[in-house]
Amino acid sequence: STQEKTPQICVVGSGPAGFYTAQHLLKQHPQAHVDIYEKQPVPFGLVRFGVAPDHPEVKNVINTFTQTAHSGRCAFWGNVEVGRDVTVPELREAYHAVVLSYGAEDHRALEIPGEELPGVFSAWAFVGWYNGLPENQELEPDLSCDTAVILGQGNVALDVARILLTPPEHLERTDITKAALGVLRQSRVKTVWLVGRRGPLQVAFTIKVPRPRKRLTELLFRTATEKPGPEEAVRQASASRAWGLRFFRSPQQVLPSPDGRRAAGVRLAVTRLEGVDEATRAVPTGDIEDLPCGLVLSSIGYKSRPVDPSVPFDSKLGVIPNVEGRVMDVPGLYCSGWVKRGPTGVIATTMTDSFLTGQMLLQDLKAGLLPSGPRPGYAAIQALLSSRGVQPVSFSDWEKLDAEEVARGQGTGKPREKLVDPQEMLRLLGH
Ligand code: FAD
Repeated sequence: STQEKTPQICVVGSGPAGFYTAQHLLKQHPQAHVDIYEKQPVPFGLVRFGVAPDHPEVKNVINTFTQTAHSGRCAFWGNVEVGRDVTVPELREAYHAVVLSYGAEDHRALEIPGEELPGVFSAWAFVGWYNGLPENQELEPDLSCDTAVILGQGNVALDVARILLTPPEHLERTDITKAALGVLRQSRVKTVWLVGRRGPLQVAFTIKVPRPRKRLTELLFRTATEKPGPEEAVRQASASRAWGLRFFRSPQQVLPSPDGRRAAGVRLAVTRLEGVDEATRAVPTGDIEDLPCGLVLSSIGYKSRPVDPSVPFDSKLGVIPNVEGRVMDVPGLYCSGWVKRGPTGVIATTMTDSFLTGQMLLQDLKAGLLPSGPRPGYAAIQALLSSRGVQPVSFSDWEKLDAEEVARGQGTGKPREKLVDPQEMLRLLGH
């Protein structure tokens, strides 16, 4: 049948999940055509906007994604927000199958009094700010205080603590934005506390994400067991910046400054563990501790947003209900990455998971479970987008922006100076 000969497939989201799903489909099916839709004008999701600027080696996956995008059977369409510019039913009409890989962009609220005070941010927004995510460029965090408190002890919390405490000259040759570097140069933050509800062993051994578990455990053991050499001892004695972990503490309230205008501290309830193994829970002991600080960053987890009323959504877990990537009760609709599994796991986990979704889709295709007959693919969507005044950004457009960013970084020894204004990007492309 036609669909088996030239299946038209689209993927929503161009982070690791989107690109790895596309890669699998193109490799395993010699005729498949894959269009990747992305709401940002630029590709790569959290590889560009999440991964810390001082971990450039993690971003090497971009080379593989670029190879995928260069396939004659793959196209990238940035600046197209699914759910706003085009709907999921429209995509399902135009393609034989649709894969949702749009990540987990919502952060969980603290749900405590004082959360709305100036000086309180989600760690997510802070990461987006220093990594050039357009919607977070207005954040302008005030770093004139000497203590910051991060609520949460996962890998994002560790990244944020590191960026706050790294001497700015060590970030100068990374792709951190010029604006963020400027603010960090003026920073007076000397102490960062990472607050967690449970204890070191729970963080270190029972959470499900291997990476922070490994990192944090290594860090804990190194700090606890290694004696500093003479040079390190001198450095530590004179070090102006420090961080620490506060275990068994649960946030109760963000405390206001005397004039009530901004955050001045966090009230923490001391907790203790009850139960054994998997059933262990942190319960309050009744003791309270106030931790003064001028900056509060909450990093207690992310969740996905529903993208379209026609797509089933589990709002409690913040994921699309699915069985191995097949969206429940909607034939021809699939999901991969964080929107499928929830926001845990590194890029490698996302890769395995996306290959699996690709495999399920191809199985269904082979079994004749996808619509038969030809589908118009991008031709139909292009017409819709143009009637709505939406101008997609192609992969070769992105390569022009990429070259511009690299050129702007050259003068200052940075790998790139990211463009942070979508309007400017579109202007540079003559859109
Ligand atoms: P994402 O990467 O979020 O991609 C989703 C894409 O969908 C985005 O480009 C988004 O713009 C797009 N999108 C959203 N909504 C729409 C819509 N409506 N229409 C069209 N497009 C849409 N992993 C590592 O291995 N190493 C690290 O060092 C590391 N550091 C990290 C640091 C941070 C701060 C975070 C948050 C994560 C980090 N990770 C790291 C984890 C890694 O980023 C994730 O495993 C991976 O990005 C998840 O892939 P994804 O494609 O599901 O989601």
